[in-house]
Amino acid sequence: MTAVAGARIGELPVVDRAEGCWIYDVDGNDYLDGSSGTLCVNIGHGVREVLDAMAEQGAQVCFTHRSQFESQPRRALTEEIHAVTGNRFREIVYTNSGSEATETALRLVLHHHNELGTPDRVVVLSQYPSYHGMTAGALGISGHPARRRNLGGLLAGAADLALVAPADPDALVPDASDWSAALERVGADRVAAIMVEPVGCAASGGAVVPDQTWRDLRELCDRTGTLLVADEVMTGFGRTGAWLAHTGSGVLADLVATGKGLSAGYSPLGACLVGDAVLRGRSAATAAIGHTMNGNPLSAAAALAVLRYLTRHGLVDRARAAGELLRLRLDELAGCYDWVGPPRGRGLVHGLPLHQSAASYAVEPLAHRVCAAARACGLVVYPAGVDHRTQSLLVAPPLTISDDELDELVRRLDSALRRTAEAQG
Ligand code: PLP
Repeated sequence: MTAVAGARIGELPVVDRAEGCWIYDVDGNDYLDGSSGTLCVNIGHGVREVLDAMAEQGAQVCFTHRSQFESQPRRALTEEIHAVTGNRFREIVYTNSGSEATETALRLVLHHHNELGTPDRVVVLSQYPSYHGMTAGALGISGHPARRRNLGGLLAGAADLALVAPADPDALVPDASDWSAALERVGADRVAAIMVEPVGCAASGGAVVPDQTWRDLRELCDRTGTLLVADEVMTGFGRTGAWLAHTGSGVLADLVATGKGLSAGYSPLGACLVGDAVLRGRSAATAAIGHTMNGNPLSAAAALAVLRYLTRHGLVDRARAAGELLRLRLDELAGCYDWVGPPRGRGLVHGLPLHQSAASYAVEPLAHRVCAAARACGLVVYPAGVDHRTQSLLVAPPLTISDDELDELVRRLDSALRRTAEAQG
């Protein structure tokens, strides 16, 4: 049997309703949402302000096309995104998902080099392991074998692929020397961009790119005329204790793909933040990118209310403080099991590595067993990793989680780990 990380795990309960950090099924069971869905529901479930904003917007207008009308919530959302990201981006291109946001970044990268008269720059370097989305271009630069399998024909036509794995077998993210070696191997005059996840979530289970690597990457990109792209679909809008995870390094990427936490699961939305260097300041509209529903008024109203809620309740700072507590608790928990490694991550996203032999992982990843046991214990956590080396549980509750709820999360996770250990004998 081939292991497929992120595959469906057993029969699923049917959801009835959700509130705050809690989800209830139709049989009356409660679940603590320990992964915010898939790092999406950052402000928790059922927030009245967001539901009211959506109802009001729905009553006014749900859809007009962006080529025909600007909408009030979209205009206000654009201002709000500029404000929380320090007015450092020139333009915002809306999408319906994180995949479309990374795909949009790729397209802008290729347009940029064509417009600049360097059309041979078609290679996008990205990390191994990594995950940038399900659309062909985004998957084409994703270092995630299980999600790429059987799609060779489709992906071959997408952006040229150059995955950069760390030379150090113990490392999970490439360092400056890995990136420059890859650039040299491919040829600097063929590389269009470097795409990096600040915290590798689905593929590497919480591996953090060090600040120094971001600074080295910025320098490398500036020196070689390469664009730097940050994939902040999982990390953007507060999850790591900052509005954007990569900017704490003092570096700003040329393009930033976002999604998930932007509208916190209330309505589909993603966004690509575009910096000044891209297309030499010309509008992204020249690249003719866009899907019908992109940036529709209803999703914009939801996201605007989400960002205002994050600000009003100081949730970005809360993610940092609660993240320290979570790390401490997970560290203590990991110490109780010899097959669980110390947590890695930042803010309220942490991966808990699970040790398993390659042969046993190929039969059934331990992470799937623990997630099923967690569900039986009333806890939702997310299985991450591309192989037995990166396999982990992602723990990433809503930023609104209380200290008591964090303790309860860890208690339930402990029960799930104990159940898994007992079932293994
Ligand atoms: N980029 C990263 C880093 C992700 O983790 C994901 C989804 O998990 C995506 C892109 C794709 O986002 P979506 O599933 O919203 O298309």
